[in-house]
Amino acid sequence: MAACNAHYYATRDPLGASGDFTTAPEIHQLFGEMVGACLADCWRRAGAPADAIYAELGPGRGTLAADALRVIGPRTEVHLIETSPTLREAQRARLPNATFHDRIEQLPARPTLLVANEFFDALPIRQWVGDEQRLVVLQGDSLAFTANGLIVEDSPAREAAVLALATHLVRSGGAALLIDYGHAASAPGDTLQAVRDHRFADVLADPGEQDLTAHVDFQALAAAARAAGAAVTALATQGDWLRRLGIQQRADALIGHHPDRADDIGSSLARLTAPDQMGDLFKVMALHHPDWPIPAGFE
Ligand code: SAH
Repeated sequence: MAACNAHYYATRDPLGASGDFTTAPEIHQLFGEMVGACLADCWRRAGAPADAIYAELGPGRGTLAADALRVIGPRTEVHLIETSPTLREAQRARLPNATFHDRIEQLPARPTLLVANEFFDALPIRQWVGDEQRLVVLQGDSLAFTANGLIVEDSPAREAAVLALATHLVRSGGAALLIDYGHAASAPGDTLQAVRDHRFADVLADPGEQDLTAHVDFQALAAAARAAGAAVTALATQGDWLRRLGIQQRADALIGHHPDRADDIGSSLARLTAPDQMGDLFKVMALHHPDWPIPAGFE
């Protein structure tokens, strides 16, 4: 999964209608603006530290960062964790002054306002059937799984990333928003999936040519963050979180300024928040320094 996704992301921009999948920030600017409002409010209540930075894990096309920074303040220093050279180019075009890093550990020791949208789902998982790790092997000319049965997933790569992030927040101050599709409590089940051209595909077909993801186990992420000393908020659905932050009011204001765009704004709002669209499947959780305030939208 790690090798497939490294090749996949290094060789294309997979986002948007002409790509394989569409993420929340690519649907409408409303999403990035709410992320920016949440982080800016938290920063202000933390005493507005002047040396704070904006950071993002897996920033895609840089759309979320550009929308969030209009709210946070365009002069904020930007640090992006991104391994794909192709997507780094796209991000540099949107955010010419950004500094790039390969690893979370390379972030400067300054208070950090961070967001990760659909980042953890792309990090590799392992699958277990009982005590046996379920592997992918060559069978004749095709790939096959070694074991079938009740599957339990875990992800050392995700836990290592959260540990690094929580350690950074505890050392340097700040808050991080983790937004992804997944579940509130660890539970057995096979959630590995492949997406290509906006459709589900066979997970073992065309290695490195389709997007491989698995649902994020937020309980496991929360435990790893707490073990590093970070405070962890309750989990919210994306729909509830965006509504509590005032996305409806922001949409109404935008429609007031641009009545010609009312249809697009209304349907984008529904895609982001409706329970049968992204609203319930996607979840939001925040990590923060224990002395920083709880970010808004999680009560
Ligand atoms: N956050 C963006 C893009 C999500 S796609 C959005 O919401 O539109 C996943 C992103 O994570 C891509 O930018 C991809 O290149 C990046 N990525 C995947 N694995 C990574 C890794 N191990 N380290 C850093 N970035 C990674």
